[in-house]
Amino acid sequence: MNNKTAAPVSVIGLGLMGQALAGAFLKAGHPTTVWNRTTSKADQLVAQGAHLAPTVGDALKTSPLTIICVTEYQAMRELLDASDIALDGTTLINLTSGDSAQAREAARWAEQRGARYLDGAIMAVPSGIGTAEAVILHSGPQSDFEAHKSTLDALGTVTYLGADHGLASLYDGAGLVMMWSILNAWLQGTAMLRTVGVDAATYAPFAKQIAAGVAEWLPGHAEQIDNGSFPAEVSTLETDVRAMAHLIEESEAAGVNAELPRLIKAMADRSIAAGHGGEQYPVLIEEFSKPRAD
Ligand code: NAP
Repeated sequence: MNNKTAAPVSVIGLGLMGQALAGAFLKAGHPTTVWNRTTSKADQLVAQGAHLAPTVGDALKTSPLTIICVTEYQAMRELLDASDIALDGTTLINLTSGDSAQAREAARWAEQRGARYLDGAIMAVPSGIGTAEAVILHSGPQSDFEAHKSTLDALGTVTYLGADHGLASLYDGAGLVMMWSILNAWLQGTAMLRTVGVDAATYAPFAKQIAAGVAEWLPGHAEQIDNGSFPAEVSTLETDVRAMAHLIEESEAAGVNAELPRLIKAMADRSIAAGHGGEQYPVLIEEFSKPRAD
């Protein structure tokens, strides 16, 4: 698509993700300038119409908006800290993965150098970029996000979370712990069932149904957490803990790893010891909110 009114954009960092980002901007008709330490990674994009900037500074100067996506924050600083690189007046969106402290520190650093800065997190794989499935989170000044939203829309479902620059990284972490926890739970069940000849493909649809059912509980459980009140509407923690004990026994008897079931029960046991046995599962937020298990 060639859209002559589309705003120009620069992309610094053309790894797997940066190439996908630049490719999506090109596809949406944005005049796209690119730069990468290893120049050859720009070849395909240049063949598709991207302009290759000779230096990082040129990439920043060419467009009002620059997206940077490199391995880590330190790499971004190494690239942009050179004294001859001007950031004044630039809007820089950093889609490099990191934590919230790094995001806030990068915001201070960029703003001291005269840039407008948004921090972002990509919750997608490169092949999803440019489709609605690609969720891209942003935090920082809302007016800067709004000013460039129509350009960012080329990347997928772009979302603004709030003024605190650390929010995108925090949501990213929250999304990742959800993903790994669901995968770990599924792997635990798969390991148990495989000991009796049930293969992963047979268990997967059942596991998917359970995960979707549990997801339905979240709004109600969130209400209990936000109200700080955990009436046992469905079951008490004491009832749940008995089932957790069976899960540990079952895992041990099957000869599979029981670390995850033990961790699940250990947290519930501590909550019961603190007097919450008659309350409902979300009361465990109190255990999750402590820095240490004591
Ligand atoms: P990648 O393919 O390994 O690319 C890394 C990029 O960083 C390359 O452009 C590399 O340049 C550049 N780089 C690293 N150190 C540098 C330095 N010191 N100076 C200049 N450039 C440097 O990684 P990726 O998959 O594109 O990931 C990039 C970011 O996106 C990461 O923070 C990652 O966590 C995040 N992300 C990736 C995915 C994914 O599925 N790939 C999903 C979500 C988020 P060279 O080409 O010269 O080495």
